[in-house]
This record gives sequence, C-alpha cells and structure tokens, in this order.
Amino acid sequence: MIDKSESWIFESIHLHGFELLLAVVLLVIMGQMYLRFHRQIKRLIEDAPVPMMLVESKSGNLLISNPVATRVLGVRRVGRYYLLPGTLNQSFVLELMAHFSTQNSAAYRIDWPLSANQTIRVEVSGRPTMYRGRPCWLFYLTPYQPSIDEVMEQVHSLSVIKSAFENLSELIFVKGQNGEKLFTNRAFDRFWGDRFDEGMNEISGVLKGRASHRHWTVDLFGRSCLLETHQSLLMSPQGETLGMLGISHDVTDWHDIQRNLRDEMDKRRDMEVALAQRETILQNILEASPDSIGIFNENMVYQACNQPFVKTLGISDVNDLIGQRLQDVVPNDVYQRLSKSDGKVLTEEVSLRYVDQVVHSNGETTWYDVVKSPFRDPTSGTNGVLVMARDVSERYLAAKQLEEANQELERLSFIDGLTQISNRRRFDEQLDLLWHIHIREQQPLTVMLCDIDYFKGFNDLYGHQQGDEALICVAQAFRNVITRSSDCVARYGGEEFAFILPNTTRQGALVIAQRIHAEVSQLSIPHQGSEVSECITVSIGVASFIPESTHNADVLVSQADTALYQAKANGRNQTSIHHTSSN
Ligand code: GH3
Ligand code: MG
Ligand code: MG
Repeated sequence: MIDKSESWIFESIHLHGFELLLAVVLLVIMGQMYLRFHRQIKRLIEDAPVPMMLVESKSGNLLISNPVATRVLGVRRVGRYYLLPGTLNQSFVLELMAHFSTQNSAAYRIDWPLSANQTIRVEVSGRPTMYRGRPCWLFYLTPYQPSIDEVMEQVHSLSVIKSAFENLSELIFVKGQNGEKLFTNRAFDRFWGDRFDEGMNEISGVLKGRASHRHWTVDLFGRSCLLETHQSLLMSPQGETLGMLGISHDVTDWHDIQRNLRDEMDKRRDMEVALAQRETILQNILEASPDSIGIFNENMVYQACNQPFVKTLGISDVNDLIGQRLQDVVPNDVYQRLSKSDGKVLTEEVSLRYVDQVVHSNGETTWYDVVKSPFRDPTSGTNGVLVMARDVSERYLAAKQLEEANQELERLSFIDGLTQISNRRRFDEQLDLLWHIHIREQQPLTVMLCDIDYFKGFNDLYGHQQGDEALICVAQAFRNVITRSSDCVARYGGEEFAFILPNTTRQGALVIAQRIHAEVSQLSIPHQGSEVSECITVSIGVASFIPESTHNADVLVSQADTALYQAKANGRNQTSIHHTSSN
C-alpha cells in the first residue's frame, strides 16, 4: 500500500521525469545550436574576403583558415588540416598571440615570410575567442595599405632617388622585363647618345641575379674608354622580376693609373736589379783591387771603400769609415794632408793626379800614385769624388836606387880605382873648367906634374903589389898637401900625379911643391933601388901663368911636363919651374 508520503514521492518522480526530459531536449537543442554555431564560425572564416586564421591558444595549432590566406599568405590546406608556410613555425604564432595578450593593440604590422627571399607586409588584428570549448585566437591579416602621407613620402623619396641617380657620374639605366628603356640618367645619355641599346646590352650571367664585367668601348668623341659595368635584376617584394638595373663607371683613368703604376714598378724593379748588379760589380772591384779605392759624396761622407784604402789611413775596418767623414776618423794632420785637393776636385770637377809620399812612424816611406776624379751618381743625381791610390814605392825605390847607382857610377868614372883620388878624366875636365874661369878672371893658374923617382926599379925590387901600396900611400900624402877645396890632385897615369892649383902663382906653387917633398919624405917608404935616396922621392914640374884665350889648357900641362923632365934631368927629388911661360 502506498501512503501519502509515498504518493508525494511518486508525484515528485513524475514531475522530475518531465523536467529531465525537458532538460535533455534543451541539451539536444543547445548541442545542435552549438554545432551549428561552430559550423557557421568555420564557414564565416572560410568565406571571409580577407585572410583569417583561427589558432588554438594552447598549442598554436592552426585550426581554421581560408582560401584567401592560402592565396595571399601561402597557408596550405592538407585534408582537414591547415599548415603555415614552411618558413614559419608555431613559435611565430605563439609570439603573435603573446603580443596581443599583452599589448591588446588593434593592429600589428609584420613582414610575413612567403619564402626564403620574399616577404609581404601585413597588418594583423587578433581577438581571443572560444572554439569547440577551447580558447583560441582569431586573426585577421590584411595586406598593408600605406597611408596617403606614406605614399607621398615614398613618392618624395623616389624623386629624391631619381634626382640622385640623375646627378651621379655613373652611367645608370633601368629597363623593363621586355627590354624596353624605363630610365637612363644624364651621364648615361651623355655617354651613349642614341647608342643606348649598346649601353643597355645584357651581360651574360645577369639573368641569374647579378653580373659585372669590364670592356673597352668608345664615347661620342671617339675616345677609348674602359667601362666597368654591374647589372642586376630588379625584383618586386613578391619576388617577381621587374626589369634590370645597370650601373657603369668609366675606369679608363684608373686603368691608365694602374698601368702607369705597373710600368713604373717594372721600371723600378729593373732599376733595382741593375743597381744591385752595379753594387755587386762595384763590391767585387773594391774587394779584388790591390789598390786603395774610396768614394765620398758631396758632403765628404764616405760611401764605399776597400780594405787597402782604410789600411792606408790606419783604420782597421772599412765599416769604421763608411758613413763617416774623413776628419771624424783620422788625426787632423793626416786629414789636412790627404784632403787638401778634395774640395777642388768636388767643386771644380777636375781630375787630379799626384804622388803622395808618406813617412811612417817606423821611418819607412811609402809613395802613392793618387788619382782623384769627380763622378756623378746617375741614380741619386749626387756628386762625389772617386779616390784611387796605388802603392808605387817599389818603382820609386828602384828609381832612387838607379839614381844612386848612376851617381856612384859617375863618381867612379872620375875616381882612380887604385888610389881613390881623381883620375885623369876628372883632371882634364877640371882643368878645362878652371882654364876658362881664369881667362875670365885673369888670375894665375898652376899645374904641377909629380912623378915618383925610379919607380920601375921599386916594382922590380919589391914587387908590383908593394908598388901599388906605395902608390896608395903617396896619393894619400898628396891629398894631405892640398888644403883649399878648389885645389885638385889626380893620378895622371902610372906613377905620375898632377895638381891643379887655382889662383896660385909660381911662388905659391913652390910652397906646395916643398910641402909635397916633405910629405913624401915623411912617408919614408924604403927604396933600395933609388939612386937619389933610400926612400921614395918624387920629382915635380911646375907651370904657372894667367891663361889667355888664344891658348888652351894643354899648354899648361905641356910646360909642367917640360919642367918635370928638367927636374929629372937635374937629378930628381926636386922641383923645376917652367920659366919660358908667357905670363
Ligand atoms: P924615373 O925616375 O925616370 O921616373 O924612372 P922610373 O922608373 O920611375 O920611370 P919609368 O917611366 O921608366 O917607369 C915607370 C914605372 O912605374 C913603370 C911601372 O913599372 C911603374 N908603374 C906604373 N904604373 C904602375 C902601377 O899602377 N903600379 C905599379 N906597381 N907600378 C906602376
Ligand atoms: Mg913616369
Ligand atoms: Mg918615375
């Protein structure tokens, strides 16, 4: 049995069943509305005339997009799925959502990468929404439309660029995709005139992007010009080929400068090689030469020299002189002696040659044959002096020895070999000389002939060698007799001697004759073969008079000989004077 309370429950259950049904119906209706709502959202997005994207907030996955987005932004549809262009990943979308979450700005301008080298500028608006119960973002992307001001600004900057192009000295052209001329600047027109087709010729390889080359051509005036041309394809922001840009420079001057520079460098290198060769040759000459060689410049600074040169100056190393002035490295007296002609050679540009005699501290003498010549260095254009000195001491010593030998020979030719007093030749010469002097001065001249008595017997008795020694002793005694330097005694021949006494009268001669007898007597040379004495004696014949030009000197000798004959005849060991003389 069902009580009241139970009936209430039943009523209640009954009532609740209705509500449940109502709720289910409502749920079904709402579900259908929900699905229909989302289908409509999806259709709205897909049919929208602007690119749209619905992105899941959590994952960044692209849930819905539309064909406009596919066409303009490169969004791809694969089955039920939508994919961003390959250049974009989900982090890009996440950043976009983060931007709108924080900035909440109405529009956000971005460069949408279509491919690796192509972007499109778009304005993005974003709204958070729910789709199928998931938080999402709905993005509207419209290609960016610049404002009037921006367009004007672009036009202005384009005209600035055009004006800049016009004023550039480079030759600039722009041609369209079909090869039609779009723009040429003034420099291009001036250079090419109506030959603009030639100026716009495509460089091979430019179709790949850009290319450049250099080629010779002629300008309107027929002048050869070297043009360096760069060409590149002009691309739209969408990557379409719009045409071609060409820029050419006239690099003729640069080329000429380069060529001149190269020529100059070649010349310089050749010159350096020649200089190095010259330097080597000079160095070899300097090192190989036994002569002293030195070169100094117009500042008297030595530029080169060899070992013999510095050795002559008393310097040990060539490097102690090179780069120095002579006065800085040698004592002042040496400098004064060596450099006295340097200035003359340098300033007057004359060559000098002389013999320099150097007396060394050890007393030895060296003779140098010195040549100083001016020279001009063609490379540096500077003047200098080349000094060469040759040691000619051997030649000088030989000449000196020869001279001494000659003098000795000459002396010997006037000296008697045995007695070392003047010989007959010297007597004759001396007599001839004095004869003429006495004619001029009218003074008495005396000749005395002096003969050893019985000398043949002496030789016979004591031998010839003893005879020679006796002759030497007698000659020495005669030399002791004469005191005046102008007097002369000579061996006239055999055992006969002759005296010449200038400015001497007969009386004077007699004094000398007595002295002769006394000196010979003092010798006391024993002579057992003599009939007049036990020692050697002499007989003397004297002739003395004032010479006249009508006679010659032989008269004087002849008279002295006669007087000697007389002395012999009178008994020897005595003096006889010629009395028939005409003075
Ligand atoms: P007189 O008194 O008349 O002069 O007799 P003398 O013997 O001296 O005369 P003579 O003319 O007949 O002899 C000269 C001698 O002198 C001959 C020679 O033997 C000697 N005589 C000449 N020259 C030399 C010489 O150089 N050396 C030596 N030892 N004897 C010489
Ligand atoms: Mg004789
Ligand atoms: Mg004699």
